[in-house]
Amino acid sequence: MSRRRLERELKKLAESIGGDEAIAVIKALRGKDYQTDEELAEKTKIRVNTVRKILYALNEIGIAEFKRIKDQETGWYYYYWKLNMEKLPKVIMTKKRKELEKLKKKLEEGEQIYYWCGVPDHPKMTFDEALEYEFQCPICRRILNQYDNSKELEEIRKKIEQLEREIGLKKNKRKRGNDHGGYYK
Ligand SMILES: [Zn+2]
Repeated sequence: MSRRRLERELKKLAESIGGDEAIAVIKALRGKDYQTDEELAEKTKIRVNTVRKILYALNEIGIAEFKRIKDQETGWYYYYWKLNMEKLPKVIMTKKRKELEKLKKKLEEGEQIYYWCGVPDHPKMTFDEALEYEFQCPICRRILNQYDNSKELEEIRKKIEQLEREIGLKKNKRKRGNDHGGYYK
């Protein structure tokens, strides 16, 4: 993964964890040795509880690590945090794979034909279910029409294709060589 792409992916990851605040925490951690959560809170001007939440989330996905040190005088424990960027590419790939699985499932579900009254939150039904209700919505009694989700599905397909390319499951479409010279002109 190129450096630039990695940066972009890190930003996306941070956003999904805790928005701008997570981006700020990561920025404060980057390139630095171990720091306490209090130090990070001070640096970022973000509440220490929020900083901690972000740190634990980063730790959970494997890109932040901490050590716990006891203060001999007070007997309190302090947590020192550091980013662990080596794992980032793997973390990103795992996340993308999960996303891909989810989208594939969504696509599979969406490929069935549904019947729907058109009111958000009212049930979308299979043909058999719709038949049972005599093609009337059980909530609002409007007629159930075949629900056209082809645009949604197209979006999902595009996203799947992009993810597959990013993960490396699919090669970029190869441009036709000279053997078809002139064909595309
Ligand atoms: Zn309805």
